[in-house]
Amino acid sequence: MQDSVSPSGFRIGTVQLVGAGPGDPDLLTLRAARLIMSTGLIVHDGLVSPEILSMARPGARLVSVAKARSRHTMAQDAINALLVREALAGNDVVRLKGGDPFIFGRGGEEAEACRAAGVPVQVVPGITSALGASAAAQIPLTHRDSASIVSFVAGQCKGLAEQNWAGLAGRGRTLVIFMGVANATDIAEKLMADGLAPETPVAVIENATRTEMRVLRGPLAGLPDLVQEQRVRSPALIVIGEVAAAPDETLCDIALEATQ
Ligand code: SAH
Repeated sequence: MQDSVSPSGFRIGTVQLVGAGPGDPDLLTLRAARLIMSTGLIVHDGLVSPEILSMARPGARLVSVAKARSRHTMAQDAINALLVREALAGNDVVRLKGGDPFIFGRGGEEAEACRAAGVPVQVVPGITSALGASAAAQIPLTHRDSASIVSFVAGQCKGLAEQNWAGLAGRGRTLVIFMGVANATDIAEKLMADGLAPETPVAVIENATRTEMRVLRGPLAGLPDLVQEQRVRSPALIVIGEVAAAPDETLCDIALEATQ
């Protein structure tokens, strides 16, 4: 790619918005791995695993922009400004994000900020945690028998109560909730109030693809207790729908049908 040059003749760096996947370095794309190993500056989230950061070349600058929940907006402006400032100073930047940069990753906002400042930006997709976690837990998000619609929802959104989730969950549908652990009680109550059966299977996948990964299962009505009793911590995903049932239960159903 040809270098971008400012009107006054200085080279402008490129910002690469790179998905780091759910944690296991083996799940990086080849392009992400190549960029991580070659760049001089990595600006990363708290979700990027230490194993992946340790792939950076010796002497590379690693800048953490892990965000506190309560300071989201301010912090995001500061991150945008940092990316633009570095690129305008001539530095290529790898902006490394957990999962995929465009799935609840604020990658869209960062790309806009770069474009507005005349900074070239490229996007390298990553395996979103929804896909990494479901693969690791062997939960097929779609299944010919039980799910032909999948929805990704942010569980910490303002206005959660006003959303109508009735169309997103239920028979034939899988709902994957990001950032939902802190609001698990509200989410379960809301879904049941919108008509979802209390016994709908739920799986909570914590630290997916990392050594400390846990997969917890139960019915929707038991989600608040499950999260509290098992002390589920972020990062965790909540998968709701028939596909989230324990594999053994599915096997039992098949065995029962076969004997009938
Ligand atoms: N861009 C990311 C999502 C960022 S939002 C992606 O594509 O995955 C942060 C949320 O992602 C967390 O609150 C959690 O719900 C989910 N998450 C990210 N990494 C995870 C992991 N390793 N295990 C479980 N959930 C994860």
